[in-house]
Amino acid sequence: MSYTIGLDLGGTAIKGGLLDDVANVMAQDKIPTRPEEGPDGVFTRMAEFADRLCDEAKIDPDEVRAVGVGVPGPMTTEGMLLYAPNLAGWRNIPIQKQFGRKLRWPVRVVNDADAAAYGEYWAGAARDQTIQYSILLTLGTGVGGGIILDGEIYSGPHGAGAELGHTIVQLNGHPCGCGQRGCLEQYTSATAIAKEAKRRLEAGAASTLSGNPTARDVFGAMEAGDKMATEVVDLCCEYLAIACVNMTRIFDPQMILLGGGVTAAGSALLDRVRADYQKHSLTIYEARARIELASLGNDAGFIGAAGMTRGR
Ligand SMILES: [Zn+2]
Repeated sequence: MSYTIGLDLGGTAIKGGLLDDVANVMAQDKIPTRPEEGPDGVFTRMAEFADRLCDEAKIDPDEVRAVGVGVPGPMTTEGMLLYAPNLAGWRNIPIQKQFGRKLRWPVRVVNDADAAAYGEYWAGAARDQTIQYSILLTLGTGVGGGIILDGEIYSGPHGAGAELGHTIVQLNGHPCGCGQRGCLEQYTSATAIAKEAKRRLEAGAASTLSGNPTARDVFGAMEAGDKMATEVVDLCCEYLAIACVNMTRIFDPQMILLGGGVTAAGSALLDRVRADYQKHSLTIYEARARIELASLGNDAGFIGAAGMTRGR
């Protein structure tokens, strides 16, 4: 038996786990990020955290093969974190080298959405050995994406691949924080669902909702039969379905997984996306992906970070 450690570096917390070679989590824990301490201080505590995970799992550090890290920003193939919106002031950080120096094990660093996609592929909803091509869309306050092709993370030479939330699905659409207009994120994130409901309320739509409803409120109202809320969810699902069709045309994945807070709506969301996916898919031949809910939740990042250092 050999072990790997996965770390998921977030804006407020660093989650981590020590896993065996069949993805059993032997120990998991988290520490505060405190990005204001700067990369060097944070990396020192991350290295101590990795040591502590060995203690907590009662595993000899010599039995650990590698450490994987997911980071909240684009990574170049040379191991450079270009920037991270949730880590103020962090730009062009040679994290692979700088963090690696503090560790006794080899380290591999990737984007956190890529790590999460790998987690679902290695140990989550896409873990079936027959699946080698899968895509994860994470629908939270924003929309993240990760692509697994032939069992490997695909992120492109500049680390900018798999920014699926910023694929454009609407000409002259809503402006996005990234500088584009009409990004998928502006139609399918929790933020987008809340905004769309508010726009309709302000335009005078009749609804049981009022004020500033959250995405959760919108799904709740839909379940209770609210017409406006149902229309908002339908619209979100239709954009999601279009994104899934586009990804199918480009990558021909075996599975597309939906994760993140928005998927707490469960089958209310999944059934609609599947139906719209069929509706919008081409009919000239059969090339369809299974659409499923992701299964690892917030643990996907550190699990995938550990898994990607060894492969499936
Ligand atoms: Zn965008």
